[in-house]
Formats: sequence, C-alpha cells, structure tokens
Amino acid sequence: MLTTIGLEVHVQLRTRSKMFCACPVEFGAAPNSHTCPTCLGLPGALPVVNAEAVRLTILTGLMLECEIASESHFDRKNYFYPDMPKNYQITQYARPFCMRGWVPLHDLAYPKDAQKNIESPDKKVELVRIHLEEDVARSFHLENSTGIDFNRAGTPLLEIVTEPEINSPEEAFAFLTALRQILLYGEVSYADMEKGQLRCDCNISLRPQGQSELGAKIEIKNMNSVSGVRRALAFEVRRQIEALERGETLQQETRGWDDSAGETFLMRTKEFAHDYRYFPDPDLPPIRTEALVREARSRLPELPGAKRERFVKQYGVSAYDAGVLANDLELAAYFEAAATGARRPKSLANWTLNDLQSALADAGRSIADCPVSPAALDELVNLVEAGTISGKQAKEVFMEMFASGKTASAIVQEKGIEQLSDATAIEALCDEVIAANPKPAADFRAGHTASLNFLKGQVMKLSKGTANPALVGKILERKLR
Ligand SMILES: [Zn+2]
Repeated sequence: MLTTIGLEVHVQLRTRSKMFCACPVEFGAAPNSHTCPTCLGLPGALPVVNAEAVRLTILTGLMLECEIASESHFDRKNYFYPDMPKNYQITQYARPFCMRGWVPLHDLAYPKDAQKNIESPDKKVELVRIHLEEDVARSFHLENSTGIDFNRAGTPLLEIVTEPEINSPEEAFAFLTALRQILLYGEVSYADMEKGQLRCDCNISLRPQGQSELGAKIEIKNMNSVSGVRRALAFEVRRQIEALERGETLQQETRGWDDSAGETFLMRTKEFAHDYRYFPDPDLPPIRTEALVREARSRLPELPGAKRERFVKQYGVSAYDAGVLANDLELAAYFEAAATGARRPKSLANWTLNDLQSALADAGRSIADCPVSPAALDELVNLVEAGTISGKQAKEVFMEMFASGKTASAIVQEKGIEQLSDATAIEALCDEVIAANPKPAADFRAGHTASLNFLKGQVMKLSKGTANPALVGKILERKLR
C-alpha cells in the first residue's frame, strides 16, 4: 500500500495586536477582555490591515523559498458559524501572498526511533501556498450551554498547505518539526502547539501499489501535537489497510483524534461541497508587496540548515552535534558565544550537549537562565587543555560552577584542586599498579596494546582521578617496555 499525506498547518503569528484591529494578542487573558467592534464583527466597524502580520507572512514565504505575489488581496469567505459573527471570515483565496516553496527535512527532525531508518533522506516537502487570514473565536462547550471567547477572534493566522507528497507518519512528524524550527528561527510565531499557536489538519489516503489514482481522502481535524499527528496517522494507516483488506470501500470523511484512547473517530462522512462565495473584501484595498518584501528580506535569519553546515565547517563539530545544537536556537546561541575565539570549540560542543544539558535538565532550568556563562565554560575547557586540572576534576568543578555560579579558576584555587603532574609521584603509582596486575602487564609486553588502557585506568583510579592521563600513559609504557 502507498500512503499519501498532505497537511494544512495553521500558525498564529507573533504580533502584538490582531489582524484588523488594535486589540492585543495575549494567551490566557480573561475571556472576552481583548475585543472591540471590529473583532466582534459589529455592523459598521472597519478593518485595518496589520502591516507587521503581512511582513511576517512574507518573511515566512522567503524562508521557505516561496514565490511572493507582487500584489495580493484579502477575500471574504462566507459561512455561518457562531464563532464568526460577521458571517464571513477575512482570508485569502485568489491571490495569496506566497505560492509554492518547500520545507527541507533533516535527519534529526524525525522521531528518535525512526532516525536510523529514513526512507528519503534530505527530502524537501513542496508547498502549495501560504496565505494570511484572521482566526475565529474559541467556543467552550459547557454542561448546558456553549461559551464563546472572542479574544482569539481576529488573531493573525497563517495557513501553510503542503502538496500531498508526505509518505509516512514519520515524515509528517519531521515536516512539522522542521517547519516549527524555521518559524522559531524567523521569530514569526511562538509556535507552541500546547497553546494552539500551531495546529494542523492531516489528509491521508491509501492506495494499492501500482494504482496511480489516489484513494479516498480521510481528513483528521485539529491536531495539536507533533507526536499526536504521528500516532493519529499511524492509526489511520492501520485502520485503512485493514478495511481495504476486508474488501471495504473507503469513503471520503472527516475524523477526529482521541489522544487518550489512541484512536481516530468519525466526525462526518461526505464533505459538503461548500460554496463559500469568495469575493475580494471591499473594505480592504489590494496590497503591493515590493516594499514589504524588502523589509522582510532585511530580517531573514540564518536558517537551521545553514547553521548546521556552518557549525561543522567553522567549529569542526560532528554533523550530528551540529544538528542537535541547531535544533534549539538558544542552545545554538549559547554554544556559539562560548566557541567564538575558543581554542577547543569541539570540546565546548561536548560540554554543552552533555554535562550542561543534563545539569539543566536535572535542575529543571532552561538555557536562558543557565548559571554557567559561555565564557565560564570556555575557561573550564581551557584549564583542562592546559593540564591544570584533569578531565575528571573538571566534571567536579563544573558541578560546583553550576551550583554556585563561581568561575572555574576561583573554584580550583579555593579547593586546591590541581592535576597531579609530578612524574616521581606518578611513577610510584604506576609501579604499584603494575605489581598488583601482573597479567595485564604481561599481556601488554606480549603485544596486547589494549591492556595499557586497563592499567592506565587503574592508575587514574588510584590517584582519585587527579593524575595527568597523558603522563600516566607515557610512564606506564616506558616501564613496561
Ligand atoms: Zn479588536
């Protein structure tokens, strides 16, 4: 069976005010506290375009390699629904701001358990279009009534539509992860799925190998987590295969996702062929984009792919490490602040990704309030490089830095930590270890070079991690020859 998936992603833009009025955009405010005649759809109220929302739309289009229309306009989509009191939504139909473009997928955007088994590495998922519209109000279904909160009504919303060329639930996961990263890089949206700032409808159809015509399109509505999208699509693939194997014919239908049950459920069969009677909104003049494109272009950030490549080239880190660093904009900025001008940028990447990340996780802190500054981490790495402290001592010093915010050199001085580099003292330790381990010593003499590491480990242990490992290696080798 061949799986075909297309996504429609809704992204709340990061503007201070709404799309067509001056009401603030704020998550979690008291219901209906951010409203005015325009976003309540009162008769006679007139919309005014939020220029920043248009800039962010065009910036998104530029980041995703879209063609930007030189002139674009808003249309009215006519329908009746309680969350939309004007009885039409202002959206874009005939001339959206952005056409085509793509989202590049990368290995680390896939779910962890699927990264070893990627079907089409470096795939680009093509887009159909990106348009700008206003969000509708939120309805809450209470016991005997329905409440509507108009705070969300009129919030600037991007709709990003992909071509139906995603071929697995894992690829859909990678698409959303990679797209979200780019949106965060451009500071276009906070893209927090839990807050509904990134939502997604999935279209999925299955067809037998060799059949070119697409199977019945099943839509899963209102997905609000990337892992939920993966699980919902995986469930649908199984459900549809089983149905087709039983000889059933699938019908076009709309389904919902019950996350706790781990199942999709039928919402409605047969889509109505809605006639929305789109027409250009007479209250809003067409928008010429030339100046806005210029402004958006000046705000183009370095994109995740470019950052990954540059980290490899400029700092000599592995492609994998560069990927993990670039996955998180703040982590990448931290690493870069530490690595700029550093003698050992590769060690800094290791420290950032291992010790620092796990200390932050243990403390439940984010990189934004990390008690160890990038410069302080660089100083620590330099102390190890210079042989002042051993790698093992550095781990201790790091934990102390994290707990107290003191610098590495202050802690080293205060605690009298230093690496044992006195050759006579190390020789004594080596003699003791060789005497206590006659077999590995004999093995090494017989040409078993790996035995040296064992003996070295024993000396390090005996010195409680303070001995200079390079010196230990040298002295052991000399003694065993
Ligand atoms: Zn308003």
